[in-house]
Amino acid sequence: MQLTDQTIHQLAQRLASGEITSVELTEAFLQRIEMTNQEINSYISICPDEALVDAAAADKRLAEGTGELLTGIPLALKDIFNSEGLRTTCGSKILDNYIAPYDATVVAKLKQRGAVILGKLNMDEFAMGSSNENSAAGPVRNPWDNGRVPGGSSGGSAAAVASRQAVATLGTDTGGSIRQPASHCGVVGLKPTYGRVSRYGVIAYASSLYQVGPVGRDVEDCAIMLGSVAGYDPADSTSVNTPVPDYRATMKDGITGKKIGLPKEYFIDGLDPAVKHAIDAAIESYKALGAEIVEVSLPHTDYAVACYYLIATAEASSNLARYDGVRFGVRKDEGEGLIGMYQRTRAAGFGDEVKRRIMLGTYALSSGYYDAYYLKAQKVRTLIRQDFLDAFEQVDLLLTPVAPTPAFKIGEKVDDPLQMYLSDIFTIPVNLAGTCGLSLPCGISREGLPIGLQLIGKPFAESEILQAAWAFENATDWNGRFPELAAD
Ligand code: GLN
Repeated sequence: MQLTDQTIHQLAQRLASGEITSVELTEAFLQRIEMTNQEINSYISICPDEALVDAAAADKRLAEGTGELLTGIPLALKDIFNSEGLRTTCGSKILDNYIAPYDATVVAKLKQRGAVILGKLNMDEFAMGSSNENSAAGPVRNPWDNGRVPGGSSGGSAAAVASRQAVATLGTDTGGSIRQPASHCGVVGLKPTYGRVSRYGVIAYASSLYQVGPVGRDVEDCAIMLGSVAGYDPADSTSVNTPVPDYRATMKDGITGKKIGLPKEYFIDGLDPAVKHAIDAAIESYKALGAEIVEVSLPHTDYAVACYYLIATAEASSNLARYDGVRFGVRKDEGEGLIGMYQRTRAAGFGDEVKRRIMLGTYALSSGYYDAYYLKAQKVRTLIRQDFLDAFEQVDLLLTPVAPTPAFKIGEKVDDPLQMYLSDIFTIPVNLAGTCGLSLPCGISREGLPIGLQLIGKPFAESEILQAAWAFENATDWNGRFPELAAD
């Protein structure tokens, strides 16, 4: 097995025993990125010099015996995280020249643990999208079929793990942006409960919806990554002050006697037959593992996508008001006046999807429409959250598809925003409810495309979904499959 094919837990052992060094490992990944990035386009910025300096420091720490699990492990970050001294574009032309002056809390935590940062990953502009086609750095291609999308918005984060261009990565998930690309790329992705992970230093899109989370090669790696970044942060007023469990310690406890709910609204006619087949087989595996399967209802599911696109766009219109060319980012000031400068900067700096959302959100918030749209959407959101809380009175967790179809073709949905929005139909409700969800591989379609399974947990019950995911991963053989790239 190549060094670049291994997991955090495998590599951590080899690093700790001195069998390999972090410098060797980092060089192997840098070489792999060099060989494959032209095909996949998952990295926006690669930082070999900084990575090798960090790797040498990690080797010193490992030699002194003060290493941790992540010490010397090469990781990469979605380009939405402020990372000191590194270009941080958020996939947008408007931040083309922005060098972050500080580290997001999650980045600082990874660095304190001695992780090596290889670079910054491609994404839909400001995390708005489901296909990674809305990036100023160009689309990311799916490593399983480079004519298809990797999913979005954390497409680079999922494609990089599937392509073995980083051991694990961090993404963000506002409406599915970790889970859907993880599903389309055949890797594991976890969206934690709202408040579980600090968002200080993460570029904001829809603040009431998103969380930072890991993408990894297996469930154990996601448990390690989550444990490394989770926890209260006084710099983020939405982070919650509750202890971080040892996710790895309980991961293998099994699921005998657990009740798993199947929300009937998620098993609809439009579901792709390959997805349905894979989910049905997964349900059988869970029965064999000793879980009890029951049908539940989330009655307000139909309203989730509409509700999300009101709330998310309203928050986007407010959050993105700061990009005006004054303090940072690109400025277009040829011509006259301050207002003219704002207009030219924003017209040139934002892509079409971002402009569409700013307009929709501004409309929803404008006086006279606020009550009819934004306020109404907030009320519907409460009903959707209550659906989940009611279901969790009956069951321990929920099992659903991640996306209605496997990865679609590049270009297939770009001219039809509504179709694009519907690809997040099974992931969006989890963000509206503020709870946690995980995506893990559970099948391969006839065209050779990965299919993902979603496990949804009670608020702050990440341990439970990791347990259920680990049990499935180890009872089936869907994990550990790698796509073949042109360079392989
Ligand atoms: N696709 C959804 C959107 O475009 C979700 C994106 C995300 O989770 N950041 O808003």
